[in-house]
Amino acid sequence: MPRWVFSFGAGGADGGTHLKHLLGGKGANLAEMALLGLPVPPGFTITTEVCRHFYANGKTYPDGLRDEVEQALVQLSQRTGRSFGDAQHPLLVAVRSGALASMPGMMDTVLNLGLNDVTVEALAREAGDERFALDSYRRFIQMYGDVVLGVGVHLFEDVLDDVKDREGYFADTELSAAEWRDIIDEFKRLVEQETGAPFPQDPVEQLWGAICAVFGSWMNSRAVTFRKLHGIPSTAGTAVNIQAMVFGNMDERSATGVAFTRNPSTGEKTLYGEFLVNAQGEDVVAGLRTPQDITEASRVSTRSERPSLELLMPETYREFIGYCDQLERHFRDIQDIEFTIERGKLWMLQTRSGKRTTEAAMRIAVEMANEGLISRDEAIERIDPSSLDQLLHPTIDADVERDVLVTGLPASPGAAIGEIVFTSEEAERARQRGIKSILVRIETSPEDIHGMHAAEGILTARGGMTSHAAVVARGMGKPCVVGVGALKVDGAVGSLTVHGRTLHRGDVITIDGGTGQVMVGRVPMRQPALSGTFATLMEWADAARRMKVRTNVETPSDARVAREFGAEGIGLCRTEHMFFDHQRITAVREMILAETPERRRDACAKILPMQRQDFAELFEIMHGLPVCIRLLDPPLHEFLPRGEQEIGEVARVLGLTPEALRRRVENLEEFNPMLGHRGCRLAVSFPEIAEMQARAIFEAAVIAARSTGVPVMPEIMVPLVAARAELDYVKAIIARVATAVAKESGEHIGYQVGTMIELPRAALKAADIAESAEFFSFGTNDLTQTTFGISRDDAASFLPTYLQKGILSRDPFVSIDPDGVGELIKIAIERGRRTRPDIKLGICGEHGGDPDSIAFCEGAGLTYVSCSPFRVPIARLAAARAAIAERREFGV
Ligand code: PEP
Ligand code: MG
Repeated sequence: MPRWVFSFGAGGADGGTHLKHLLGGKGANLAEMALLGLPVPPGFTITTEVCRHFYANGKTYPDGLRDEVEQALVQLSQRTGRSFGDAQHPLLVAVRSGALASMPGMMDTVLNLGLNDVTVEALAREAGDERFALDSYRRFIQMYGDVVLGVGVHLFEDVLDDVKDREGYFADTELSAAEWRDIIDEFKRLVEQETGAPFPQDPVEQLWGAICAVFGSWMNSRAVTFRKLHGIPSTAGTAVNIQAMVFGNMDERSATGVAFTRNPSTGEKTLYGEFLVNAQGEDVVAGLRTPQDITEASRVSTRSERPSLELLMPETYREFIGYCDQLERHFRDIQDIEFTIERGKLWMLQTRSGKRTTEAAMRIAVEMANEGLISRDEAIERIDPSSLDQLLHPTIDADVERDVLVTGLPASPGAAIGEIVFTSEEAERARQRGIKSILVRIETSPEDIHGMHAAEGILTARGGMTSHAAVVARGMGKPCVVGVGALKVDGAVGSLTVHGRTLHRGDVITIDGGTGQVMVGRVPMRQPALSGTFATLMEWADAARRMKVRTNVETPSDARVAREFGAEGIGLCRTEHMFFDHQRITAVREMILAETPERRRDACAKILPMQRQDFAELFEIMHGLPVCIRLLDPPLHEFLPRGEQEIGEVARVLGLTPEALRRRVENLEEFNPMLGHRGCRLAVSFPEIAEMQARAIFEAAVIAARSTGVPVMPEIMVPLVAARAELDYVKAIIARVATAVAKESGEHIGYQVGTMIELPRAALKAADIAESAEFFSFGTNDLTQTTFGISRDDAASFLPTYLQKGILSRDPFVSIDPDGVGELIKIAIERGRRTRPDIKLGICGEHGGDPDSIAFCEGAGLTYVSCSPFRVPIARLAAARAAIAERREFGV
């Protein structure tokens, strides 16, 4: 019999983190904290399995659930000395969602459940504060009315606002007990009017209503969007946590707060958190009041005038930091903790692994490994390679003088420039038009996630470092500044005002999420560098990985960037990309369009010095590291002249009339250029081109070897080979030129000739091809195109539909299709090695920078991966993680 309910509290628990899949993150960690002896308000968790059952069976509950909940309530009564509806000591509970993956603010919560016309009086007596009890009751009716009964929140707010306007009050605290009683009556009337039934007085009925609403909220549109964005399966389900209420809003000795055991923005090892005196938990996260610092150190650094918890309640503070330390050591990761102090008594409400910026993640991982809390391998595994992308993006140039408009809290680092927008819809529209935007809000709510995604950065007037905007932005890696108190936002008019300056929708601003500064206009940015903990982690990754990481480059500047990012050579130099320059492209067109070998030789002679110069520079920058140069592989349609002007220009150079040239171009036009006259086919038709390129490579190798004093051994790669005979034909040309250049220069030139494997036939005939090829490099762009029979140029028009309909789970041009393309790669490796056991194997398609594909390459036993320069650090880390996983699997 499955068990549906697990209790916790008072030094014990039925569950723990080992049952996370059933209890959800929150429930599992509450149980774990109870087991550790921390003061957790007692409660119980209804499992995620009940949620799955709920949706699979027309929103009904499994047999036995009601009995188990009843028993859990009995146990909860014993643990608290309170029971539902009791006129002396009523049990009040919070009902919260809790999925396996954290989905902050996406699902529903009901607090103060158990209050009714009778128990509210008991609460008033117990708290010695009638207004507090009545305020709690009206909050409950409002929350329950909204979440469970579907009565719009604004209707409740209107009632409250009417009373405040009538009496001329500004804050809720000015209302008298009698006025709260009137409001409660009004709220109850409102519920009856809207739902046709009185507000439920029976706590058990209230409880089942709340349980149903929380399970129901798993499928609300916010939660569905969030899951889609974060790749969380909708089948996972949420648990429901029912926990005795503790009140942070009972008096001035009560408080509620959140804390991170380390700084989630920078990773620095200092307790980092905020609290509010006399408040309920949601008040901190909602960011409606600006909170106080927990430690004195952070109060001083934020220059806050409000006292810290350390100063205000020193004993509770010491107890709290003790638990923080204990939890971090127990979970061996930064913890994000929620707590409440009820009349001086500390209660721990939640702990979970803290969301952090990539920069913080890196520092925390490295420092925890240095502290001996985790191993270096674990440190490497803690960092998602794709997240490095954030660090590899620009920040504001430190040398530039900043004209700072205003400064807020630095909630998520990185700088962003964009036009001001005031709603998520505007941000979405801007993105669709290719315009970069900054989303400016008073505060953000979970409804804003799509706008936050669409914008380059987020700026809010309210909220602290743990407000919704801050937490979500850090998770997304979006620059974010919050809590700019001086900012007056008028979204309806489309303007914002700060210190007397007004900016309008569409005006450009720059925000710096690392300092909290907001600047008008565009501020120059600087490229990132790998230093500090990033560099350390990369060193550890380099020590852990087996595969080499090369780069795909053709320009000296990209080659230098790649070297700085740690590239260990060039895996692909696409020589056709060296010709996109206007002056050169004419010479290339001349070369392609020439009608006789003589004319083509003339054109080649013009290009030779340029190519030689290019290659020499690349060899020099790579300073002895391997450099793999691919012979020309231009899809012809990318190079043919178009339009009157281009045709006229090329015709003049070629000594043809425009009409004659147009005819020649028409002759070369292809129906399927991707499957046409490209790759080695070009070298077969026009051997003069291969000859020129080989000469440029060898002469450059001689130049670079002389200038650097380091031998250069070029790898020459022949593209789009389907049969060994093609390779042999081109290889013979290369060999002839090598001999000639050696003779002319008097230098010995070592080199290798290999091929790309990018056609299924090449993969199948790999044993044969390896007789001639000294290396294989998998061109997975073309291999994917030709294996699926999906044109690279046309895929965008229908592949998204395939993904949407679930026919393909990933875009095979982004992440290797392990079953089909992957099988061809494995076949090629196995057959290639049969002929040439030590054959060098690499990958240079776009997949070489994709972490999942890199893991595939590790498993397949490739020698190296090659990717674009900005992905080199990602590939280094991904290769390390893949090697660690592989070692673990084979128990090495
Ligand atoms: C490939 O096909 O994977 C490849 C690297 O070559 P290109 O993208 O230049 O066709
Ligand atoms: Mg290719």
